[in-house]
Amino acid sequence: MTTETKTTTAETHQDSMFDAVLARLDVAAKICGLSDNAANVLRNPQKQVKVSLPVMMDNGKIQIFEGFRTIHSTILGPSKGGIRYAMDVCDDEVKALSAWMTFKCAVANLPYGGAKGGIKCDPRKMSVGELERLTKAYTIAMSDVFGPDKDIPAPDMGTSGREMAWLLDAFNKSHRGDFPAVTTGKPVGLGGSLGRDAATGRGVMVATLAALKKMNKKPENVTAAVQGFGNVGSHAARLLSEKGIKVCAIGDHTATFWNEKGIDIYAALSYVKNNGGILKGFTGGTEIKNTELLTSKVDVLVPAALQNVITEEIATQIKATLIVEGANGPTTPEADHILNEKNIIVVPDILANGGGVTVSYFEWVQNRYGYYWSEEEVNAKHDASMSLAFEQVWNNGQQYKTTMRIGAYISALKKVELGIIAKGVY
Ligand code: NAD
Repeated sequence: MTTETKTTTAETHQDSMFDAVLARLDVAAKICGLSDNAANVLRNPQKQVKVSLPVMMDNGKIQIFEGFRTIHSTILGPSKGGIRYAMDVCDDEVKALSAWMTFKCAVANLPYGGAKGGIKCDPRKMSVGELERLTKAYTIAMSDVFGPDKDIPAPDMGTSGREMAWLLDAFNKSHRGDFPAVTTGKPVGLGGSLGRDAATGRGVMVATLAALKKMNKKPENVTAAVQGFGNVGSHAARLLSEKGIKVCAIGDHTATFWNEKGIDIYAALSYVKNNGGILKGFTGGTEIKNTELLTSKVDVLVPAALQNVITEEIATQIKATLIVEGANGPTTPEADHILNEKNIIVVPDILANGGGVTVSYFEWVQNRYGYYWSEEEVNAKHDASMSLAFEQVWNNGQQYKTTMRIGAYISALKKVELGIIAKGVY
């Protein structure tokens, strides 16, 4: 067990994601001796924008949607962060996710600050035309916020390259020019980078292999469960299985499956592709409950869907010895204590899912350079960058005798503190 348990209060942070960020920040700040000045700057997001978006729906009625963008920090560079379309998007969630982006970019050694945006909507219940109008209305409302040198969005839950292409179109028209570097995660052909689509899942795979090496475990002797079969989960499951890991459980919001011989991930991918993007009806495993996946008898657990799924109650039942957080914020601070007491290694979100923003950075570099790299080149640069970030975090954990999560926060806080001191405050 490491120092994290001893230094955190027993308050509950499950209701506020931003409180959960501050709880980890406080622990890491204390352990690494962060100055109060730097801590105060980081406890308060730089800018929060909230907009109302009237959208003409297909039925001829105008519906008003709430849109958010929080810039947490631009100390280390222009802010970077995805846009989420979901019904639970709110101030608190966007604020927390924006702070994580600051820390994630710093952990990954990228010249970026952090931001996050979102629209409270259910994209699954909207037509393509409604989604296009909503995305363009949001972009125009945020046209003074976004910019290749200011704030650079990307896809997140409920959005993809399609939305980024609409965003690019609206931004280009409102700024009268062509600015591919205003967003990343674009389709290849519109300035998107090869390798971006799979990058977050690829980073999860690289982090998993690095952690297994530290644990002296060989991939071919390891089993895994992956929650979420969207962008992050599906690529992570595929890449883990390509590395010889037996993926025994997968699931999405419609269904969860278990197969102790290992699920054929290619069969699951083609099933999802042919069935409207969902796993319901897949026959490559026995259907189990959603929460059973989290507590199933596997070596590696990859939560790659929602936040706050690993609660205290779930943590006590987890059998995996390694958790690699594909999703943002899947573990509550209270659950962290239990995982720590059980000596479960947690590769934290701000390290484990940093592959996406790393390749987003490569996309932005290519856009500005006007010269595009091969997928092999992107993947090689990505793998080297993720491996370096993993080692830095691991070493912090060892040096400060703390968890990898706090080690990752320390990695980030020290870099941002240097930026605050060097730039000065006025
Ligand atoms: P996505 O929309 O592509 O996929 C989300 C998946 O989660 C879907 O398979 C969905 O069915 C599933 N899901 C939703 N509710 C669920 C539930 N109750 N139980 C089980 N599964 C459920 O989103 P994504 O881009 O894969 O993002 C997933 C997570 O990873 C989010 O936390 C996101 O912030 C984080 N993340 C994404 C990226 C990226 O590049 N896309 C980068 C870093 C972090």
